[in-house]
Amino acid sequence: MLQSKTFIPTLREVPADAVTASHRFMFRSGMLRKLANGLFVYLPLGLRAFRKVERIIREEMDATGALEIKPSVVVPGELWKESGRWDSMGESMLRVRNRQNGDFVISPTAEEAFTAVVRDELASYRQLPLSLYQINTKYRDEIRPRYGVMRGREFVMKDAYSFHTDETSLDKTYEDMGRAYRRIFKRCGLSVIPVKADSGAMGGSGSEEFMVESDIGDNTLILCGACGYAANVEKAACGPDYTPRLAPETARAAAASVPPLEKIDTPSVRTIEELCAFLKTASKQFIKTLIYRAVNVEADLPGASGEAFFAAAIRGDLDVNEAKLAAVLKASEVSLAADADVERLTGAPLGFAGPVGLTGLPVVLDETVTGMNDAVTGALEKDFHYKHAAYGRDFEGWITADIRTVKAGDRCPLCGGALYEKKGNELGHIFKLGRKYTRAMNVSCLDESGTSIVPVMGCYGIGLDRTLASVIEEHHDEAGIIWPMTLAPYHVIIIPVRYEGAMKLAADKLAAELEARGIEVLLDDRTERPGVKFNDADLVGIPLRAVIGDRNLALAPPCVEVKRRDEKESRLVEAAAAAEELSGLVRTELERLNR
Ligand code: ATP
Ligand code: MG
Repeated sequence: MLQSKTFIPTLREVPADAVTASHRFMFRSGMLRKLANGLFVYLPLGLRAFRKVERIIREEMDATGALEIKPSVVVPGELWKESGRWDSMGESMLRVRNRQNGDFVISPTAEEAFTAVVRDELASYRQLPLSLYQINTKYRDEIRPRYGVMRGREFVMKDAYSFHTDETSLDKTYEDMGRAYRRIFKRCGLSVIPVKADSGAMGGSGSEEFMVESDIGDNTLILCGACGYAANVEKAACGPDYTPRLAPETARAAAASVPPLEKIDTPSVRTIEELCAFLKTASKQFIKTLIYRAVNVEADLPGASGEAFFAAAIRGDLDVNEAKLAAVLKASEVSLAADADVERLTGAPLGFAGPVGLTGLPVVLDETVTGMNDAVTGALEKDFHYKHAAYGRDFEGWITADIRTVKAGDRCPLCGGALYEKKGNELGHIFKLGRKYTRAMNVSCLDESGTSIVPVMGCYGIGLDRTLASVIEEHHDEAGIIWPMTLAPYHVIIIPVRYEGAMKLAADKLAAELEARGIEVLLDDRTERPGVKFNDADLVGIPLRAVIGDRNLALAPPCVEVKRRDEKESRLVEAAAAAEELSGLVRTELERLNR
């Protein structure tokens, strides 16, 4: 392809809002332009790279036996009402009305659509297992689109959904998908960290996220250097650093020697720090109690459906992890209650809540609290706290769970090693869904004995745009992108110093020879200064560069200068052997990554 005939509008200037390397280079290299916040246009160069990500994903999905389909992006709201997510998806789902006043959704994800397709066709267990996927547009009205296509409003996702008669069959497909994902990311030249999205402490494997390490990551990963434990902080567990959890009766007996509960005057003391100073003790001695409002609660607690308030109690030196708390409550969202609600529910202003005597509000106890039998805690009364509060004797909770935020320095739940933190970005997610959608949407089929069963489901997503951007994050230098061969928009760029005379002839010949070998070539035929062409080539990031100049052509034998984008030094290669040499390099690289 002649560069003058394509459309690669490179930029010297960095777009004002581009703070990340991928965002900067996608704009500057002429891959991408913006239509509006979170909405983009892939220009020809960007689209070539994008299509290669797509091809790799498609090949690996096909290899698992999953079948590609292409549902419409606009789907009837009815399906979302059936699943119950019409109400729970919130504002990120874009809803539209057609001229007959029907409700429609611009797909943010597609469990509903795929479940509906399968429901209509499924009759017998013989049709299962069935894995279907699409590579299709999604829309999410993200509050804060940022970092270019890394978090856009419209993006392309590969999403697959599998249907099974039983868990064993689901487990197998889930494993196959996990392997396919590892291959996809390897082929894209990405180092991903698969993290168990459930605690992993119990060997759980119901959900796995594929993360890349990134300073701009939205996720915090908790990792163990000793044994390889890796979890999203939303789920990460840690080894106990408290007296092991006791049953309430045992705890009560253990508290026999603890002085009785004592109410103490703590004038104007509200924060844990103020309390520590006032009582001259450590924050570990306190039970911190926070009041939360939860939305769409599905936990098995009478009267707690929809919106409900909860208290969460945890050792004073720790923080409550809202994602873990939401999981315990099976709530779609939890947030700290407003001050007025706290006052109404606890009978005291903010800062004096505690589990002792707290009625009318279910209390979620962090496991650490069940190891405390001589603690300080709020007395549900302005300016008062309790001393000597003992779990099992003075209070119990509605439920005990691990709701603490694990931090660097905590101990690994598997091996006891020191945990550390990294920021990460999620590129893909595989998930065992169980019967959530098949049940809600009445999917069934007959099993071998003729009994009606409800299939189990798995779902598996990868964001293509985010994957592409992450590749640039991992593969660039100050000058521009350094494409892995598998995703490079072109394999080789040929730069004649001037596109005329012998240099033009040699450049055209090399391009033709390479193309005959199946190599994708960009030939910079522009009348720019060589320096400009070199800078653009570095920016655009084509992995191999062949420079054709008068002086090297005049050598005996005539030579061209070959350079890899990821190396500093170039070397001379005989012009007659250049096509063979370059295509060999391309093949070797492709094989290395695709292996
Ligand atoms: P995040 O927490 O980053 O919003 P998510 O948990 O909402 O991601 P999923 O619903 O699991 O993501 O979607 C699957 C994949 O789709 C993600 O792993 C990511 O690669 C991609 N993705 C999700 N939201 C966006 C977005 N706004 N822009 C680009 N890609 C996205
Ligand atoms: Mg999201």
